[in-house]
Amino acid sequence: MSKSLSYNQTPKEGSTLRLEFFGNIDENSRFPAPKNLNTNNLIIDLNNITMINSLGIRAWTRWMKELPAKVITLEHCTPPIVQQMNIVSGFLPQKAVIESFYVPFYCDHCDTESKVLMLKNKDFTPKTSESEAKVSIKSPIPCSNCDAEREIDTLENKYFAFLKRR
Ligand SMILES: [Zn+2]
Repeated sequence: MSKSLSYNQTPKEGSTLRLEFFGNIDENSRFPAPKNLNTNNLIIDLNNITMINSLGIRAWTRWMKELPAKVITLEHCTPPIVQQMNIVSGFLPQKAVIESFYVPFYCDHCDTESKVLMLKNKDFTPKTSESEAKVSIKSPIPCSNCDAEREIDTLENKYFAFLKRR
């Protein structure tokens, strides 16, 4: 289902501004004007982004570059977003920090797709100048539908590549 991009902006708290996006990122997407996002810390919640296409990626990358924030924190990155982070150089600017992202899972027993949220410094640690990237998935993770054991529904090496970038 096609759903155009919309967003909620919560009032600024201190130097932090929070944006929550909904829908698809594509050629019709209108991002909020960077001049209206004048803050040191910008938090972007991507929980409700369902699809992003190649023209959407271009628009996103351009928008990211124009943002005045010193730090951009991305929360709840969905699998389509994570896939782009892995493929497209420039999708994440240097000042972007991934706070949380989803890993897709699949249950063979009841044929159900699901996703598990990974939290920074709890379930994963991105690469730093001192240490390598770390990901720990507590297994087995029971299916929320039937309680059987779920399996990761992606190639782990490729999916977690973005954590090893810097
Ligand atoms: Zn199941």
